[in-house]
Amino acid sequence: MHILIVEDEEAVAAQLREVLIKERYSCDVSHNYRDALDLIDAKHYDLILLDWNLPDGDGLSLLSLMREEGTNIPVLMLSAKSSIDDRVTILDAGGDDYLSKPYSNIELLARIRALLRRDATQKQTLLRCRELTLDLKSHEVRLGEEPVALSLSEYKLLELLMHNKNIVLTRYQLNDHLCQDYNSLKQSNLVDVHIKNIRKKFGEADIISTVRGVGYTVRE
Ligand code: CA
Repeated sequence: MHILIVEDEEAVAAQLREVLIKERYSCDVSHNYRDALDLIDAKHYDLILLDWNLPDGDGLSLLSLMREEGTNIPVLMLSAKSSIDDRVTILDAGGDDYLSKPYSNIELLARIRALLRRDATQKQTLLRCRELTLDLKSHEVRLGEEPVALSLSEYKLLELLMHNKNIVLTRYQLNDHLCQDYNSLKQSNLVDVHIKNIRKKFGEADIISTVRGVGYTVRE
């Protein structure tokens, strides 16, 4: 897990880094707004610890900018400001959590774990393959930004294929997933019909590949 610490007070940043490294997080430190922005653009982070007051800008506008640009990295804001208004401002700007200084390291680590857990759960509900996304919670299927309306059987087939990305599934496995009646599925070409319909709905997007004599797969 990679964490970015944005904190202008060098002693505070160093101490924070030490605490996180002891917990086996890998850390980068930025002491100002400009460097933080460059690092966020250049590298992947799982979480950002963001100080509010920075010498060349403020953490809150950095947070707003990130959210405007569609960056969804969880942000835990750290600040001496602690009024209810301040907390509301942070949450409204797209902050995920807030801790007022001085804080205890135990609480900080617990909040970091909670944010990383929450983020992991959210990521698991979305299956992706190239421009296709499938939301396991809402059952929404999208090609790029465009929603695609699938029947329940079509959705079930696509979901199984997406869960097994790059693995070829046989017609029998796919059929079995759709219905439990062995005799009816043995004679049925139901899977082929559904796949044909899904492809029609996907138009130009060539998401599902046929593996001749075996079955189907989606490949990255
Ligand atoms: Ca500061």
